[in-house]
Amino acid sequence: MKLGLIGYPLTHSLSDKLHNIVLSKLGYDVKYELIKINSSDDLPDFLREAKERYIGLNVTSPYKEKVMNFLNYINEEAKLIGAVNTIKFNKKRIDGYNTDAFGFDNLIILNKVETQDREALVIGGGGAARAAIYSLLKLGSCVSIVNRKIAKSLSVGSHFIRQDYKINVVTFDCSSLKEAVRKADILINATPVGMYPHIDESIISGDYLRDYTTVIDLVYNPFKTKLIKLASEKGCQTLNGVDMFVAQAAKSLNIWLEKNIPLKLVRETFDEL
Ligand code: NAP
Repeated sequence: MKLGLIGYPLTHSLSDKLHNIVLSKLGYDVKYELIKINSSDDLPDFLREAKERYIGLNVTSPYKEKVMNFLNYINEEAKLIGAVNTIKFNKKRIDGYNTDAFGFDNLIILNKVETQDREALVIGGGGAARAAIYSLLKLGSCVSIVNRKIAKSLSVGSHFIRQDYKINVVTFDCSSLKEAVRKADILINATPVGMYPHIDESIISGDYLRDYTTVIDLVYNPFKTKLIKLASEKGCQTLNGVDMFVAQAAKSLNIWLEKNIPLKLVRETFDEL
């Protein structure tokens, strides 16, 4: 039996390397594979066949929301987030979980980011944005979301408003974005902009940033994205997606193997990569 990651593209992913070393350190003879799925039309057939060969799967862009349509069970937190990044094949059932929010919580807590009553601006409207928004709302931040396609930010906004949270939707134009960034105490890039191989791109210009903002780029490859470099030059506190990546991986292993996986072991393994 195997584990794997489904998504497209997967060129940036370090999940296979990290999981394979951790699995071997833990004494499991289980391989973790990267599985490119080009179209969401292929998801139902793939999942049906995967039941026989895989213990479980991670799910990444662009399928974290779409995959929910093909699951038999979705745990409560994943429903509240509106995205699934971890699947477990459970006899005839396909169960869905979200470990990204646990990863994001971990990033915030480890780095002692003040969130209570702080203005947070999340750029992006996919699964990573949903997990970050869910964590930030629980941690007491006032959250705004901005996404290239307004329909998606409105849909994410209403998802959380239905849970009685307040969330502000900002339009993706230069002046609104500039004003929202200037107001933000915490800025989160939850888009793939700046991710390998497009490492010279940043979702916003450095001119927008203030020196007392915390800038979090959920991208972890490269470690220092263009956005992180621009924010460091402005004197912002900067954090990349590594702490989140490590913690979501540990929690996914915990779900698949039904065993508590020490975060320290996963972090040490990541650092060795
Ligand atoms: P996703 O579901 O595909 O969503 C991506 C979002 O980014 C979409 O809302 C999309 O906007 C926006 N976007 C894409 N290209 C853009 C561009 N050129 N300009 C402006 N907006 C753009 O992906 P995801 O799963 O949320 O992941 C987003 C990022 O977070 C990825 O880089 C991923 O590696 C990172 N991530 C990191 C971790 C971690 O553990 N560190 C975990 C999860 C994700 P539209 O809706 O307008 O297309």
